[in-house]
Amino acid sequence: MNRLKKGSRCTICKSKGEKNKAIVYLPHHRLALCKEHFISWFEKRVEKTIKEFKMFSKNDRILVAVSGGKDSLALWNALVRLGYEADGFYINLGIGQYSEDSKQLALNFAKRIGRPLHILDLSSEISTIPQIKESTNRPACSACGMVKRYYMNKFAKENGYNIIATGHNLDDEVAVLFGNTLKWDIDYLKRQYPVLKEENGFIRKVKPLCKITEKESALYSFFNGIEYIEYECPFSEGASSIEYKEYIAKLEEKHPGTKLQFYTNFLKRMYPILQTNEKLKEELNKCKICGEPSYNEICSVCSLKEKLKTARV
Ligand code: SF4
Ligand code: ZN
Repeated sequence: MNRLKKGSRCTICKSKGEKNKAIVYLPHHRLALCKEHFISWFEKRVEKTIKEFKMFSKNDRILVAVSGGKDSLALWNALVRLGYEADGFYINLGIGQYSEDSKQLALNFAKRIGRPLHILDLSSEISTIPQIKESTNRPACSACGMVKRYYMNKFAKENGYNIIATGHNLDDEVAVLFGNTLKWDIDYLKRQYPVLKEENGFIRKVKPLCKITEKESALYSFFNGIEYIEYECPFSEGASSIEYKEYIAKLEEKHPGTKLQFYTNFLKRMYPILQTNEKLKEELNKCKICGEPSYNEICSVCSLKEKLKTARV
């Protein structure tokens, strides 16, 4: 049974002798919860994930990568409520109305929780995503992912943050894992862990929502009255991860718990094996132009800048 039965009581309230009605059913945890207990269940699960993977502590300065979507705002909200020092970082990608709307929602939310939101305008740093796509013929998402990683890391270092937290949820992680497994892309598989430790000029990156589903984070946002951008970035259309999510959702519907099992068993059984292969370790240099970590002499963002310069001439 995957849906909430009519008249179900909250499992936690029931255990305390109270009779509140459940409004959420989590089939893979076999839990029926009222609004209040869903919120506390969500936050406890995030806290447990942070501890399980030793992501950070109350002494760390955390920069939350905020997109204006439900996951990043839910994450930011949960971290602040759990007592962590977490500020937001929004990159204005210059994707027309989508960027305008998501920036406004991120700003509204920052004001509501009373935490700083740093905003970086890609147009003044390098170029907007649509311009990069047009000048380089490179798919928007691959350029976008690369520049986001670069500026997030650089900004965090320059402003005294030692942790970058992103809102990737279980569905995101499972879709990526599924795609990488289909291709047996060992290079990506060996890096698919909820914590990427700090080394060679990279700040530690963590994914505290890696065991929270997309639906759970949407519900958490809804119950907390968080307004988030409800439409997708126009460039997300046709992404293979969306197709994978649809297949996986069908499996999950029939066999609740499949997603979580696929992901957690990978972390427990496969990930450690991949780490033992010494040959997989690559040498990192410093970019000759900007000094950021890079596998080549010039990092990908600096070479993209060069390409954009030539395209403009
Ligand atoms: Fe960037 Fe692609 Fe995501 Fe749009 S869908 S924000 S272009 S990664
Ligand atoms: Zn560089």
